[in-house]
Amino acid sequence: MITIALSKGRIFEETVPLLAAAGIHPAEDPESSRKLIVGTNRDDVRLVIVRATDVPTYVQYGAADLGIAGYDVLLEHGGAGLYQPLDLEIAQCRLMVAVREGYDYFGAVKQGARLRVATKYVAAAREHFAQKGVHVDLIKLYGSMELAPLVGLADAIVDLVSTGSTLKANHLVAVEHVLDVSSRLVVNQAALKLKRAKLQPIIDAFAQAGHHRAHAASL
Ligand code: ADP
Ligand code: MG
Repeated sequence: MITIALSKGRIFEETVPLLAAAGIHPAEDPESSRKLIVGTNRDDVRLVIVRATDVPTYVQYGAADLGIAGYDVLLEHGGAGLYQPLDLEIAQCRLMVAVREGYDYFGAVKQGARLRVATKYVAAAREHFAQKGVHVDLIKLYGSMELAPLVGLADAIVDLVSTGSTLKANHLVAVEHVLDVSSRLVVNQAALKLKRAKLQPIIDAFAQAGHHRAHAASL
């Protein structure tokens, strides 16, 4: 049995065409079925639907052979036990520093102020501000980071941005780029050795589908 860990929403939706390229078709839509284990047209392939941040953990411990996780999530996890053969270039966004409209971020940084920064991405944020030499106190949050600067919990947030409409709706502005994010394929290192004959064709199909997409986008 090959088990693939995926999260619902954008990653699942953008993974369906990659699975199709590997001849794998989910039997159900996890969005509507509520099932956590979803079968496919192949009796030897199943999907497990987990929280995005839990995907690397399932793969690390071998509960799933393959998984698809955002680079943001992989940086926080650390990548232990995971082979990361492919950037699938799906679920693309940017990790950014954002502040309330009118807050003078660069002025505060210039003065050497110690900033309070709220984020779900503590590891990536710590690395970013250390490189910039900016002094920060990091406050770990699990969601709705946009609220923190509005109620005085933090001076800034580090969050994922794609269109910027969530920031705008909350009177926040992005002031600094931290890193580009897209989702990657992760593979359990032991499974890759033991189940290579079954895993390699799936990995190859994902790679091919990715190249086709990248090519189409450049036309
Ligand atoms: P959760 O709500 O469980 O944190 P999301 O579905 O919001 O998970 O995000 C899952 C993954 O999708 C993230 O880890 C990130 O890599 C990617 N992602 C998050 N927000 C965006 C976005 N606005 N645009 C594109 N990709 C995103
Ligand atoms: Mg979300």
